[in-house]
Amino acid sequence: MKQKLDIETLETLSNAGVGFLAGVNAPWGGISFDLSVEDLQEFVDDPILWFARSRGVTKGAYLEWMAAGGAVYCSAKTTKGTRCKNSVDGQTRLELHEWLVADEGYCSIHGSGLTD
Ligand SMILES: [Zn+2]
Repeated sequence: MKQKLDIETLETLSNAGVGFLAGVNAPWGGISFDLSVEDLQEFVDDPILWFARSRGVTKGAYLEWMAAGGAVYCSAKTTKGTRCKNSVDGQTRLELHEWLVADEGYCSIHGSGLTD
């Protein structure tokens, strides 16, 4: 059930110089940012959705980024036919917007031109 915030009280706080610092999880721990009074209700209703929208992405993209740990994984297939589980060198803990536009690549084993 969604909680309705008392915007009047929040505006009184804001006008008195009280800030609203919020955060969401990130692959390296968390991301913090300031919220304005206008942001608060939407943020409280669904922090992840608010964060995703503020970054111009979908909630699904955020969840995929978290699941991947902000890393881009090697595109190579192993001899067993499964995808290589190594991450691409230097492509770990990427910011959400970097992760979304990151090129596919290969890990240090598959990127050296050798195949397994
Ligand atoms: Zn690989």
